[in-house]
Amino acid sequence: MNTVKKLEKIYEGKAKILYSTNRPKLLIQYFKDDATAFDATKRGTILEKGIFNNKISGRLFELLQGKGIPTHFVRILNDREMLIKKIEILPLEVTVRNIVAGGMSKLLGLEEGIVLERPVLEYHYKNDSLHDPLINDDHILALKLAKPKELRKIKMLSLKINDILRSFFSEIGITLVDFKLEFGRYAINAQRRTIILGDEISPDTCRLWDSSTKEKLDKDRFRRDLGNVKEAYQQIFKRIFSIK
Ligand code: 5GP
Repeated sequence: MNTVKKLEKIYEGKAKILYSTNRPKLLIQYFKDDATAFDATKRGTILEKGIFNNKISGRLFELLQGKGIPTHFVRILNDREMLIKKIEILPLEVTVRNIVAGGMSKLLGLEEGIVLERPVLEYHYKNDSLHDPLINDDHILALKLAKPKELRKIKMLSLKINDILRSFFSEIGITLVDFKLEFGRYAINAQRRTIILGDEISPDTCRLWDSSTKEKLDKDRFRRDLGNVKEAYQQIFKRIFSIK
């Protein structure tokens, strides 16, 4: 396979770094051990989190791609790096919820753990200083954050991703409580751009509870100082790779 050369750092976020490569349409996504919460007011390190998240994300992207979901994932390069397609990320966080927790529990004064009769899709405007405010379809269209056709695709893909991930996680004894997705525009050629899934799917971006004990196996262990944070990520990694 033709080798891809890593060039310079083009972006550093809270948990990941992006590097350009000698291939104009490809980037390298590096996963750090840094952990932040509450708009980066809480900071820490989770040893080997970057390795777990890189491999977990790669496995889940592969699963989704196999079921027709377009993603930015190309291949895993090493412990902490994956090759991805370059996209123009939209300033939106798409949250899918199956069970009340976190933000929804706080927003509506609902007890954590209530099972929703149908998935709830939320959009948040990606802006730390505004605390990623909740917005709706009209805000997105009026502010031109996405085109109507793009928004329809994002919604359809998000619900499909939820179906695929829920059944995958249930096979390994995990309940997919909620998760956050980020989408972007990929230039197929000079004229055409298409929406594909970007970012990562990992215990950093999902709430994952053990189906029988309800034990939290995700970033809430760090956010809420529950201890055994690394062990939770490791547990998800082990279970994900325990099945074909
Ligand atoms: P909530 O809105 O309840 O805080 O988060 C809902 C889901 O999306 C959770 O699984 C959470 O991990 C994920 N999520 C929402 N916003 C962020 C974010 O800014 N960073 C990360 N890593 N995950 C997020």
